[in-house]
Amino acid sequence: MEDRKKTVGRFAPTPSGRMHLGNVFAALMAWLSVRSRGGELVLRMEDLDTQRTSEDFAAVLRSDLQWLGLDWDRETEPQSRRSEVYDRYFAKLEEMGLLYPCYCTRSQLHSVNAPHLSDGTYVYPGTCRDLKEPPAGRKPAWRVRVPDRVWRFHDLVQGDYALNLATECGDMVVRRADGVYVYQLAVTVDDGEAGVTEVVRGMDLLSSAPRQMYLQELLGFDHPTYAHVPMLLAPDGRRLSKRDRDLDLGVLRQRMTPEALIGSLAFAAGLIGKNEPISARELAGEFTWEKLRGDAIYLDGDSSFW
Ligand SMILES: [Zn+2]
Repeated sequence: MEDRKKTVGRFAPTPSGRMHLGNVFAALMAWLSVRSRGGELVLRMEDLDTQRTSEDFAAVLRSDLQWLGLDWDRETEPQSRRSEVYDRYFAKLEEMGLLYPCYCTRSQLHSVNAPHLSDGTYVYPGTCRDLKEPPAGRKPAWRVRVPDRVWRFHDLVQGDYALNLATECGDMVVRRADGVYVYQLAVTVDDGEAGVTEVVRGMDLLSSAPRQMYLQELLGFDHPTYAHVPMLLAPDGRRLSKRDRDLDLGVLRQRMTPEALIGSLAFAAGLIGKNEPISARELAGEFTWEKLRGDAIYLDGDSSFW
């Protein structure tokens, strides 16, 4: 029954600058997976951080996706305009008695008592869980209680993954003290309301999946299928980021055709056997997730990108 349901995938870029090659790779994989099965693609601008994002960047992102041949079927409302929608889901969590205000300062949160995980995040120790006297004059963030339970899922690229939110994350912030909803809540609501069945994104968001699965369960959404694609590494082992100006689309668009760029990426990822130009449409014809390995992809110094 699951299989007959139409695949709905999504692009969810942050319009804070040009896409770099890692963003392009994740978008390409999301597109291939959906298009190879005749599904639908939704575009959404993740612009919760209104200081760093802009409609100008969003327009450039759309143009870059079109240039690459990665089309979409509909665009949903950007996150910056949805705080009233998020309010409703926040109220739902509140009614369930799962929320509490957290007055911890940044320095308290990063203190020695907080166990840090290998990825640099810390486990919230529950300091404000049963606070009797909230400090006066300070606006709280709001946290949702997490159960002591292991979340397991099978990632299409990374394989089996498990995380206990209680021991490896702690109660999660859903709304910041300034009233802005956090990424995890917004993504869960947006994907859920758009009927997204498949989430394809970078490996750096793997541990977000169990957080979102928990919120999906609370808010009444189905779990999507997850595929966390490997990070792209420069020849010296550096992770590509927005700082890599030389590999963002502003520069690459002047230097390469979309087919040459997609061909080089697909070759580096092991999707095709030869580094030669190919369109996204042609690639979709023979796409399967089995072709993609989970470990990081090194971009060759001789590759056409430099
Ligand atoms: Zn606290």
